[in-house]
Formats: sequence, structure tokens, C-alpha cells
Amino acid sequence: MKLFEAHQNFSQALLHKFTPEENRFYFKQILEILLGINPLNLALEPSQILTEAQLNQIESIILQLENDVPLQQLLGRVYFMNFELQVNTDVLIPRPETEELVQWIFQTHSEPPKMVLDCGTGSGCIAIALNKNWKSDSKIFALDLSVKALKVAQKNALLNGCDIQFINRDMAKAWNLPHLDLIVSNPPYVLLEEQNQMHPRVLKHEPHLALFSPQDDPVYFYRVIQQQALIHLKPGGWLFFEMNPRCTEELKEVFSDPVWQSFEFRNDTFGKVRFLRVQKL
Ligand code: GLN
Repeated sequence: MKLFEAHQNFSQALLHKFTPEENRFYFKQILEILLGINPLNLALEPSQILTEAQLNQIESIILQLENDVPLQQLLGRVYFMNFELQVNTDVLIPRPETEELVQWIFQTHSEPPKMVLDCGTGSGCIAIALNKNWKSDSKIFALDLSVKALKVAQKNALLNGCDIQFINRDMAKAWNLPHLDLIVSNPPYVLLEEQNQMHPRVLKHEPHLALFSPQDDPVYFYRVIQQQALIHLKPGGWLFFEMNPRCTEELKEVFSDPVWQSFEFRNDTFGKVRFLRVQKL
């Protein structure tokens, strides 16, 4: 089969799922990353003959896309900020919102903070972005409950030449860390009742452990981090969070102790209250 015919088949098969633009983008990415074919060949060499193995691979990809497997998981990689990360089903696919959180941290810190913790690191995206920017001026710890997620994060740190200390721990247990200048977290914050509004791509293929807050306490992880930060965060140190727009009132309550100052929500580019920062007195 020729390249342009394979493209036509692909688009036809996925017409009901994606727009023609998405289809084209997906096909090009698949060509380049999974089949090792220059996507320019679609225009320059449309009659290029594909091998049986390549056609089988495309067929299997179509089936997976039909089954809502996210493209990023198929490709095994994703861009975050200006670097590449590997992803699989053990970690959340980094979202553009989380890039905005990292940018807010950089805006707040003109000097690198000395001791930093990324709490619930997942793919490692936040810790890696901070380490790339602050280099050895900051010591970065990255904690996660999931051993499988830490494996991905460690690999990503290696791929990006980062020096990060990974810790496998439940954040609700004693941290045993030195005093920190900055704690950042994108903890699980989706409410179970939001499930029916979620895309099957997320619901079926991303780790629920990283998505959902405990049903009985929608801000459980924020509460835990607040308690630990009373001990571990230095005076003047900052906390940064990504958050659920529906939890503003609960979060105000979590940080109601007067030791927490400069409490501020920030919207994401979609206009939703998505971030919180607070400073310790
Ligand atoms: N923003 C993610 C989503 O809704 C959730 C991230 C999280 O729970 N930390 O898909």
C-alpha cells in the first residue's frame, strides 16, 4: 500500500473520533515517531510503498485510538515546557495548566530557592522543569507513592540530565526531609462525581491514583501538605498548588491558620481558578 492510501484509510477510520486537522496531526506524529518516516513524504513522496509491518503497526494504532488510548501514550512521549518526557499508563500526561503553574513559580522566585520539594511528582514534569532552570543552585526532592510512577520520573530525569532526589513515600507519612524553601504539588484533585464529565481518554487510560481525591475529603492532599509544611517549610517559604476550581472554599479553610500569608488563587488560560500560592509567615 502507498503512503497516501494509508493516510486516507487512517483518516477514514477515525473520522468519527477526530477532526480532519487532528487526524492529520496524529498521522504525521505516528509516521515520524513510530514508523521513522519523514512526515514531509506525505507531500513529497505520497507513492512511497509501506511495508507489511508498517501497515500492521498503523492498523494496531487505529484500534488503540478507537479505544481512546491517548496519542501521548501511543507515542510514549510528550513535550512539557521546552523539553521531552516519556509517559506511560503509570503517570498522568502532563497538562498545559501545569506549565502555567511552573511559570508562576518562576515569576515568584527571581532567585533559586535552596531546598525544594515536588510532592506527588508523577512523570517528574514539575521537578525536572525546576531543576533545568535552577540547576545546582537548588536541591530538588520529588516524592511519590507510586513506585511505577517514580520509575518513569527517574528515567525522565536521566533523559533530561537532571539531578533530583526521588523518594518513594506516602505524603501523609513523616517526610524526614530537611527544611524546605518551596513545596509544589499537583496532587490528585478530581472529584469522583466529576467522572461522568471526563473524557474516556482520561478515565480509561490515566492512573486513577493520580486523578481522584478521596471521596470523603476533596482537599485531603492539600490538608496533608499543609500539616507537613507547618513543620518542614521555612518561614518565608512558599507553597504552590494546582487545584480543582470547585474547591476554593475548602482550600481557604485548609489555610486559615494565620501562619499562612499572601494566599492567592490564579486562573489558568481557560479562565478557571486553577492555582493557589501561599507563603509561610
Ligand atoms: N488536570 C487534570 C485533569 O483534570 C487533573 C490533575 C490532577 O488531578 N492533579 O485531567
